[in-house]
Amino acid sequence: MKIAFSRKRLRALQTWPKPPGGPHYTVCHFCDTLHESAPVPEGTAARCKCCGAVLYQNRPASLVRATAFSLAALILMVVVHSFPFLIMDAKPFYRTLNLAPATYALLTEGSPILGAALALFTIVAPIILAGGLVYVCLPLMFGHAAPGAVVVARWMNKTEPWNMIEVFLLGILVSLLKLNQLAEVSFGAGFWAFGALMLCMAAAVAGIDRDELWDRLEVAGK
Ligand SMILES: [Zn+2]
Repeated sequence: MKIAFSRKRLRALQTWPKPPGGPHYTVCHFCDTLHESAPVPEGTAARCKCCGAVLYQNRPASLVRATAFSLAALILMVVVHSFPFLIMDAKPFYRTLNLAPATYALLTEGSPILGAALALFTIVAPIILAGGLVYVCLPLMFGHAAPGAVVVARWMNKTEPWNMIEVFLLGILVSLLKLNQLAEVSFGAGFWAFGALMLCMAAAVAGIDRDELWDRLEVAGK
């Protein structure tokens, strides 16, 4: 027998699996009100009854989007480090600047603290975040939890605030105003890949709600 659902009813069915038992509760991060965490239809959000803040969201195609944008971010990281980031032409001197060698030069010759911060915020944190999302979300698409996925997810939560590629990009643009007085500066392929990487990282992190990720991990791990 074929059962036909209306579009509204179909959307209401697209909820992520909840761990067995319950009821489950969610605390509002703004006013500390305790709510029973009921499933919400895809594309909608649960809001606090007291202050109206968003408690959690059921984002459309969450696992696919988080995995796809994270994979794209990892590929873009290879492009960023394989091609020149900036090209400086101060005749007769011509120099190309790559991100990884520039970070290494800061670490060893110039300012080690600045070099370490640059490596952490623009290389290490994005790799942990994007790699972790692929490692956790890809097996979840097939209903499995990867070995150590809970530990990786915890590391992703810790790393997320340190992913500052957009701040670095802004800093580069500001410093270009100064550099332009000394040499003719143009952007290399690495720079444009870095801009695309910033967008992909933002889309990957926003792809899946944290509550959904933990619920799915708990269900798949049982
Ligand atoms: Zn609230």
